[in-house]
This record gives sequence, structure tokens and C-alpha cells, in this order.
Amino acid sequence: MKWENQEGKTDIKSLTLAQLKEEMAALGEKPFRAQQLYQWMHQKLAGDYDSMTNLPQTLREKLREGYAFTSLRQVRMQESRIDGTRKYLFALEDGHVVESVWMRYKYGNSVCISSQVGCRMGCRFCASTLGGLVRNLRPAEMLDQIYAISRLTGERVSHVVVMGTGEPLDNYDSLLQFLTMLTDENGLHISARNVTVSTCGIVPRMRQLADEKLQITLALSLHAPTDEKRRSLMPVANRYTIAELMEACRYYFAQTGRRITFEYSLVGGVNDTPEDARQLSGLAGPLHCHVNLIPVNPIREREYVQSEAGQIQAFKNKLEKNRIHVTIRREMGRDIDGACGQLRRSFMEE
Ligand code: SAH
Repeated sequence: MKWENQEGKTDIKSLTLAQLKEEMAALGEKPFRAQQLYQWMHQKLAGDYDSMTNLPQTLREKLREGYAFTSLRQVRMQESRIDGTRKYLFALEDGHVVESVWMRYKYGNSVCISSQVGCRMGCRFCASTLGGLVRNLRPAEMLDQIYAISRLTGERVSHVVVMGTGEPLDNYDSLLQFLTMLTDENGLHISARNVTVSTCGIVPRMRQLADEKLQITLALSLHAPTDEKRRSLMPVANRYTIAELMEACRYYFAQTGRRITFEYSLVGGVNDTPEDARQLSGLAGPLHCHVNLIPVNPIREREYVQSEAGQIQAFKNKLEKNRIHVTIRREMGRDIDGACGQLRRSFMEE
């Protein structure tokens, strides 16, 4: 698979070092040039060819003419007064925008990236999917969200979550190339264990990802303990049953030794009863899954409301009583359009 921009030029930043070496060889360049170029792009995070001072002018010229150089441009940034979380809106070269979030934790800085422009999965509570899927992101467009944020904050990024706009497993080849390059020692060299990929549950792709045997964390957006309830929240539940999902989770663990995280957005009066908690325990228990509870972030376009604080606590207690490892997601950046896709949406409305 080769990634090209809309003019049909190869996206040089989407190539692994091995692929870049082949590309340089085809240009009649020495392999060490590929090494230098890769280092400029993926370690020194150069924003253009001009800063690549140890590459000859003639080569820089050849690259400028022959390739696409993905470099995201910040169009907006919002910083939370509550916790310092920053939400960035980046423009792609074709004018579309994507959002990424930077969060500071005790253990390091984490970036949440988008994997697609828009999304076609249609989850009822999610703002990212309201306009449908526009296009897939290329590996470089995923990487550059992290690179741009490191440059802008001047701080190292230690954790990456693919939990922004888009369904990562619906853009599988780009996701895999992205993960390979992100964890490559010739690039940022982020530990696979510090990378989380979140999916709404595309079963065949979960199995395919399991076969790659990466040490990343897979998070499954479950959100309901029964098929019927899940179908009312997530159209993808019409394709795959919870039984099939659990089988895929077992397979993922068997192949990788990595435990799955269940994400569960609590929606007031929909999926937050003690009976829901009991049924959820029945799913998470046997798989030793960690459950991450997310108080739903209400979006303007839908009626869904958050569960009451007491209801959330009772839900958590019930899971804990059933010996499920559970956390309530801290709501970072509530004051800055925290929910997926809200910043991009408000920008497009303007
Ligand atoms: N498509 C992937 C990743 C992007 S969404 C997935 O479905 O997992 C990241 C997480 O945020 C998912 O669990 C998603 O269901 C959840 N989410 C989306 N909109 C939300 C909202 N308004 N409130 C709470 N959680 C939301």
C-alpha cells in the first residue's frame, strides 16, 4: 500500500525507513540519505525541507518536486482552565480539519488523535459521525498530529490514544503503518504498551489486529451489556453480536497476552441501572477486562443526558463488588468542547 495526496504524489512521511531507503535508491541516492531524512521527519520533527541542513540542496529540490510532505497547520487551540488540557484543530492540505487533544497526566503527556475525517459508524451519542465519513487519514496525517503537538508544546509525548474522530479499524492499513512508525526506534519510539487503539467493535478487524501480535492496548467501546440496548446506541451492533465481540476479545488476549479495556459511556436512563452493571460484570469478569466508565458528554444534536453522580457511583460500586477493575474517566477539558468531534463541528458551522 502506498499513500498519496490528492495530486497523486507519494506521501514521503508515510513511508517506513525501509520503504524510504528503496525510494532513495530509485532516486540514485545513498541509503544514509534515507536515514538522515527519516530522522529529520520522525525524530527532529522538521516541519519542512528547509531545516534539513545536512541534505544537499539538489536532493531537497528533488524531494520538494516529487513528493507530498504532510505538515499539519494549527487553525485553533483551546486550553482548559480546569486542567490545562489542550484541544487542537489542524488543517490538512486539502482544507479538511481534524482535532487532537493533549492531556497532561502524572505519568506523562498523552495525545488523543483522530484516524479519519468524520466517521461512518453512526454511534447515536457521538458528534464525530454526524456529517458522515469524509476520508481516511494517511499514516503521516496521524503521526503529524503528535509531531505538531510536541513542537507546539515543546514537551515530549509519552502516550498515544487513537480515540479521536474516526474508527481506526475502518482505516486499517493506515493505522497499522502508523503504529509501526510510531513505535519504531528510528522515530519517536513510543512504547507499544503506551498506545491504545479504541474501536466500536469491527470483529474481523479485531481478529486481524490480534494476529499482528502488537503489545498495544485494545479498547472496545461496549456501552451496553445486551445486543438490544447496544443496537439502540450503536448501528455497528446490528452487524456483530456481543457474543461475537467477546469471542474476538478472547482471541485478542490469546494472541497478544494483552487485556482488553471496555469503554462504557453512561447515559442517563439508558444503560446505567444496577441490572446493566450486573450484566456488564458478567461480560468483563471472565475476560479480566478493565472497565472505563465515561459519563456521556451530551451533544446538542441529541437528547442524551449524563447519569446522576449517585447513579454513576452506584454503577461503579456494583462492578467493584463483582471484582471488576473499574475506573471513572476523568472528564478532561469539559470547558473546551471535550466530546469527540465537537470542536471540528463548531468550527465548520462558523
Ligand atoms: N471509533 C472508535 C474511537 C473513537 S470514539 C470507538 O468507537 O471506540 C472514542 C470513545 O469516545 C468511544 O468509546 C466513543 O464511544 C466515546 N464517545 C463518543 N462520543 C461520546 C460522548 N458524547 N460522550 C461520551 N463518550 C463518547
